[in-house]
Amino acid sequence: MALGIFKDFVNSAVAACKTIVNVVHDVSSTLTKVVRVKFRELKKKYSDIDIQKEKENRFDELKNINDQIIDLERKYTRDGKLTENDMYKLHELQIKREKLKNKVDNAKEYEAAQDIDENEDKYEKKKVDEENPNELIRLGGQMFLNKKCKYCQSPMSIRWKTSIKSPTLNDLFWGCSSFFMENKKVKCPPEKLSKQDKEIFSNFNREGFDLSSEKLNRIVLSSEQFIKKRLQYSINDVTDNYLCPIHHERMQLKQKKNAEDILDLHFLKCPRCEQMVKIKTPAQLDSILTDFTDKGLF
Ligand SMILES: [Zn+2]
Ligand SMILES: [Zn+2]
Repeated sequence: MALGIFKDFVNSAVAACKTIVNVVHDVSSTLTKVVRVKFRELKKKYSDIDIQKEKENRFDELKNINDQIIDLERKYTRDGKLTENDMYKLHELQIKREKLKNKVDNAKEYEAAQDIDENEDKYEKKKVDEENPNELIRLGGQMFLNKKCKYCQSPMSIRWKTSIKSPTLNDLFWGCSSFFMENKKVKCPPEKLSKQDKEIFSNFNREGFDLSSEKLNRIVLSSEQFIKKRLQYSINDVTDNYLCPIHHERMQLKQKKNAEDILDLHFLKCPRCEQMVKIKTPAQLDSILTDFTDKGLF
C-alpha cells in the first residue's frame, strides 16, 4: 500500500529522484498544493517518527530477510526439494519482503513530497526536449515507485539501447526489470513512452542540462580524470535511487575493469545478484555524482 500522496494524479509514476512522470494535464497546476496539504497531514501524523532512520531500519531488515531467503534457495538447489516446514518459512519470508518493499517505497514517497513542499518554487512541469531528453535519461535504470509491467508486475524503468551514445526521446522506452533475470524464458516486451510520459514535473534547477547531448558528452570526456577521482571514494557505496527489483536492496557503485572511457566506467549492481544499471550518459553521471558527492557535474 502506498501512502497515497500522489494518488490523485492518476497514472503518475513517481521516480526515486523526485521527478514525476506522466502527470495528468489538468491537475498539474494544483499538484504542489495538493502534495503540500497531504504531506503536512502525514508529517503531523508521523511527527514522532524519524522517517530517514525508519528507512535505514527497513533496509537492514530487508538484508536479513534476503539472507534467510537465499539460504533456503541454496538448500533447495542442493537437495532438489524443501521440507514442508521450510516451504512454509520461505513463503512467510517472501510475504515479509513484499511488506518491507512497500515500507521502503512509502518512505521514498514521503521524501519526494517533502522535497516538493520545501522547494515548491523550484518545481515545474516541462515538456521533455525531443533531441536532448536529459531529464528522462537521468532517470535511466532508476526505480519508479508505481510503474509496474503489465505482463508480470515487475517494476519497470526507463531504458534505451546502450549502444546509442546520445539517445533522443524516441530511443527511450519502459523496460521490464525481469528482462535481465537469467531464468526468465519469456521476455516481456518493452512499453512505449506515452505522450504524458514526455511531460514531467521536477526541479529543473540543474545547470548545464540545456546543452545538447553531444556537447555534454564532450564536456564529460574532457574532464574524465576529475570525475573519476571524485567518484573513486564512493566505489562499493550504495544509493537508494537504484534498488534491485528482486531483492529491493540498494545497488552498489562499481567500476568496470576494461572501460573505454568515463561513459563506460561506472555501473550499479545489486550486492545479491546480477541486476545492474550501466552509467552511459552525462545525465546519469550527474545523477550518481549528486547521490554520492552531493554535487552534480557542474
Ligand atoms: Zn514484465
Ligand atoms: Zn538483487
